Amino acid sequence: MSLLEKFERYPLTYGKTPIEHLPRLTEALGGKVEIYAKRDDCNSGLAMGGNKLRKLEYIVPDALASGADTLVSIGGVQSNHTRMVAATAAKIGMKCVVVQEKWVPHFDAVYDRVGNILMTRLMGAESRLVDDGFDIGIRESWENAMQSVRDAGGKPYGIPAGASVHKYGALGYIGFAEEVAEQEKELGFAFEYIVVCVVTGSTQAGMIVGFKAQGRADRVIGIDASGTVAQTRAQVTEIARNAAELVDLGQEITEEDVVINADYAYPAYGVPSEETNEAIRLAARTEAMMTDPVYEGKSMQGLIDLTRNGFFPEGSRVLYAHLGGAPALNGYSYYYKEG
Ligand SMILES: *Cc1c(COP(=O)(O)O)cnc(C)c1O
Repeated sequence: MSLLEKFERYPLTYGKTPIEHLPRLTEALGGKVEIYAKRDDCNSGLAMGGNKLRKLEYIVPDALASGADTLVSIGGVQSNHTRMVAATAAKIGMKCVVVQEKWVPHFDAVYDRVGNILMTRLMGAESRLVDDGFDIGIRESWENAMQSVRDAGGKPYGIPAGASVHKYGALGYIGFAEEVAEQEKELGFAFEYIVVCVVTGSTQAGMIVGFKAQGRADRVIGIDASGTVAQTRAQVTEIARNAAELVDLGQEITEEDVVINADYAYPAYGVPSEETNEAIRLAARTEAMMTDPVYEGKSMQGLIDLTRNGFFPEGSRVLYAHLGGAPALNGYSYYYKEG
C-alpha cells in the first residue's frame, strides 16, 4: 500500500518515468557494475521538466485550496526550481514572482538571459534579480517578495527554495521510491544502490522515507552539490523526519539512513570542476545523456568515481536518478566551446 494514499496530487508530469539501461557508460566504467538511469529529467512536457515537478504535484492542491493568486519562490539566477514554479503557475493559471539570487560566482556574458531564466520569463513570471549569495534556508528577499504581492493587493503562496522546506515537499520522492519498487518487479531484479544529487534536500529526504519503508534507506547515496554539506545534511534529516511523521511511516529516521558524500561539490555550488566537466562529456558521449554543471554533472562525477574506485561491489546494479537541469548548460557555454 502506498504511503501517499491520503494525499492529493495535482498531475504536472506524464506519470512513471522510464528506467534506462546505460550499456556504453557501463562499459566505459569497466563493465563490472551495471549502470541504469531513472529519467526524471524527461518527466513532463512542462518547460522541459525535472525533479521539482514531482514535488510540486503535492504542493499545488494546497496552493489552490489557499485561495492564492500568485506563486512566490526563490532560487539562483539559473534556477531549475524557479523555472518549474513559473511553469506550474502558467499551467494552473496563477501569477508568479520569483526572486533570483546571485548564488553562483559565474560571469558568462549571457548567464542571466538564457536557459532557465529565459524560459521563466517567457512563461510570464516576474523574475527579480537580487544580489544575495548562496543559502538553502528561508531568505529575507523571499519574505520581501511575499510582502510585495500583499502590498499590491494580491494573495501570495510561498514555495521555499527547491520546494524543500515545505510540509508536502518530500512527498513526490516518496512516490519515486514506490515507483522504483514497482518497476523492479517488472524488471525482475532490484537495484543495490540509488545515486542522487542533493542540495536543498527534499528529493533525497523523500527517497529516504520511501526506501526506508522498503528497508533500504541507506542504499540512497546522496552526492552533495551544495558545498555546504553540514547544512544540507541537517536539512535532509529534518525533512525526512517530518515527512516520516506526516505519512505515518511508523519508523524513526536515523543518522545511518542519511548517506551524503561531499567529495564532488568542489570548487563551489554552481561551479564545475574539470572532473565534473569530464563526467558531463562522458555521459554525453556514451549515452547522449545531458547533465549540467550545477547538479547532475556532480552526481554523475560521483557515480563515475565511486564506480571506478570500487565503492560498489562487482555485479551491483546502480540506479542514477537523473533529476533534470540541462537548460543551465546554456549559461556555461564558455566551458564547452570545444566540446
Ligand atoms: C533542485 C535540483 C537538484 C537538487 O534537489 P534538492 O531536492 O534541492 O536536493 C538536483 N538536480 C537538479 C537538476 C535540480 O534542479
